[in-house]
Amino acid sequence: MTRGGLHIEIRGTVQGVGYRPWVWQLAERTGIAGTVRNETGGVVIDAFGPAAALDRFITNIRGGAPPAARVRSVTCTPIPYAEAQAFTISDSALSAERRVSIPADLATCPDCLRELFDPRDRRHRYPFINCTNCGPRYSIVTDAPYDRSQTSMSTFIMCDACRDEYDSPRDRRFHAQPNACPDCGPRLIAMTPQRAEVATDNVIGFAARSIRAGFTVAIKGLGGFHLACDARSSTAVKRLRDRKHREAKPLAIMVRDVAEAETLADLNDEERALLMSIERPIVLAKRRDDAPGDVPLIGLFLPYTPLHHLLLHDFGGPLVMTSGNISEEPMVTTNAGAMDELRDVADVFVMHDRDIVTRVDDSVVRIIADAPVLLRRARGYVPHSIDTPGAFAKPILACGAHLKNTFCIANGSSAFVGPHIGDLESFETLRSYEAAIERMEAFIGVRPEVVAHDLHPDYFSTRYALGRDDVQTIGVQHHHAHVASVMAEHRLDGPVIGIAYDGTGYGTDGTAWGGEILIATYAEFDRFATFRPIALAGGDQAIREPWRVALALLDDTFDGEAPTGDIPLFRDIAPNAIATIRRAIAWQLNAPLARGVGRYFDALGSLILGIPNSRYEGDVAFQWNMAADPNERGRYPFVIHSGVAPWEIDPRPMVRAAVDDLIAWKSPATISARFHNTIAAATVEIARAALAYGDVPVVLSGGCFQNARLAESVIDGLRPFARVFMNREVPPGDGGIALGQAFVANARIGRNVAKKQELIACV
Ligand code: ZN
Ligand code: ZN
Ligand code: FE
Repeated sequence: MTRGGLHIEIRGTVQGVGYRPWVWQLAERTGIAGTVRNETGGVVIDAFGPAAALDRFITNIRGGAPPAARVRSVTCTPIPYAEAQAFTISDSALSAERRVSIPADLATCPDCLRELFDPRDRRHRYPFINCTNCGPRYSIVTDAPYDRSQTSMSTFIMCDACRDEYDSPRDRRFHAQPNACPDCGPRLIAMTPQRAEVATDNVIGFAARSIRAGFTVAIKGLGGFHLACDARSSTAVKRLRDRKHREAKPLAIMVRDVAEAETLADLNDEERALLMSIERPIVLAKRRDDAPGDVPLIGLFLPYTPLHHLLLHDFGGPLVMTSGNISEEPMVTTNAGAMDELRDVADVFVMHDRDIVTRVDDSVVRIIADAPVLLRRARGYVPHSIDTPGAFAKPILACGAHLKNTFCIANGSSAFVGPHIGDLESFETLRSYEAAIERMEAFIGVRPEVVAHDLHPDYFSTRYALGRDDVQTIGVQHHHAHVASVMAEHRLDGPVIGIAYDGTGYGTDGTAWGGEILIATYAEFDRFATFRPIALAGGDQAIREPWRVALALLDDTFDGEAPTGDIPLFRDIAPNAIATIRRAIAWQLNAPLARGVGRYFDALGSLILGIPNSRYEGDVAFQWNMAADPNERGRYPFVIHSGVAPWEIDPRPMVRAAVDDLIAWKSPATISARFHNTIAAATVEIARAALAYGDVPVVLSGGCFQNARLAESVIDGLRPFARVFMNREVPPGDGGIALGQAFVANARIGRNVAKKQELIACV
């Protein structure tokens, strides 16, 4: 019998996800001796045995993995046979890159679920059951490496039974760091806002009854508190909205399983798979007409902790599960914080004694052009890295933008995008931003030497960057960063044609950009084309009151002779307010010009739907998007002014035609669809013009491409002519900016950046 040896290296997310015990069990089954250990960036196996057994072993390694692992590559080299008695898991020395192997939080696995509902199991209905394949990770880690003593589980001493599982390679809880049971682990309690204990026994049953009675229950989850109420009770939902000061934004709904999801939404295969994926994101899907809500999209997600499974089981219906916060503040994570901040919102508090170390929001995903796009990247995805074939020249911190902020730390060949932080506006959010950066630096074990930031001088993220000591700072133009984020994800070095459409971003000339067609590499970009600007009377006030933008657009289109009297929107607005805004625009008094495509969505939405004001950021644009008739194919005219760079897309003919349609009583659904088709057609035409200069990939980014209809029309329109890419792993909105900043900064390290803006070569 020939015997031999194999040295096998497995790369990807393979640490902290039960990979070594999985290999150990496989070795046992196939009769292989040797060792498995964690090493820099992966797992390494030395396997010895009969040739046939080695064959089976490597076939299994290549063909499978534990559910939470993400294997990127398996390489295998023959080594001489060495006598070994058994197969062992060996601990490895700490290396710099091992420190970053903290896995993302993982949804409860099927084995744990079976035990959870098995009355004979010692963890029957225990809300903190977990194993090597599932449970909390990133949210409970205090320091690297990932080990129980460096998590908020360190205060719980394992009982003998749990310790045996933890120590046995044969057990599915071998080295499961949060391992626990009812005898030794965290416990639930329920309290009233007056801090009276109302239940310690069957707390979840109590919570389910409270929700059934119409109450709002604050529940400590994995990465923060949720507020839960009965999704089918309009009074309960309204009460929650009123108390949370969130009248308009859609609320996420947790359902027990995919079958229940299908009672609320029309799902396709991709959406079903996404709902069941181990990341368990909130999936935006098409709401069924008979389901609660008033917009055509509904955000659904499945239970991802044992506590959720028990609650959904006991309650027996869909639950509103929205972040436990007031308005735009960060979600609360501590028991004391919840009792304090949510005292006027929740009737019952369901809490436990396992601390949440890092706040992690629920991730939000939507299927666009047949594949997932992350709209909010947090739980389940953070801290997975985005890897690059080249290495980063120095450790880089990219500070992100302002709204929906995330940051990114790049080191070696990996870029770690931090969790969704939120809008950097309140004191609490700023604190959470700084703390999250600090913690990520500690996990990765690097001190950034280069700090990238947006060009906007007033963003908190910019000031934070410029306030860091002993670093090289590099300013990155907002839309260049958007474009670079797509390049980074898809490993495109450029040049690319980058289409970046959003509400606003600071341009190299100090004005607001946002309808940008760039020709870009990581290091630099040319501005090939942009949209005709619209005046924002009152600056940011115009963004909150889109009727002002509508008026500016009309006056521009009709040279001050706009038929405002025929347009219902203006009937409810005081004539002197209209006159004031018109003067401000005509005299250019606090009415800066802005080029955001998002502003066209605001303006047309306001104009055609008759909505003067926005209730939250992106409100009117979203409603305008949702209004579009999916079957309408018509479009309006537009003009492209070429010659002088940058070219300008001039949508005024579109505005004229849309107003004609409005006055002719065409439905908003038709007008919205034609508007979308027009923006898409203009984009395709301008991209084709740019393609004449070189056959390069086209990339789409910016918040406007969260709009599936726009993204899909542009992709369909360009597919015959070009390879088209969009953001998938990081949001197209400003949550993806940090990744792009990191790559742009990396390409510029070592250049003279004393005069940052002159680096950027404009056409
Ligand atoms: Zn499990
Ligand atoms: Zn125990
Ligand atoms: Fe943006």
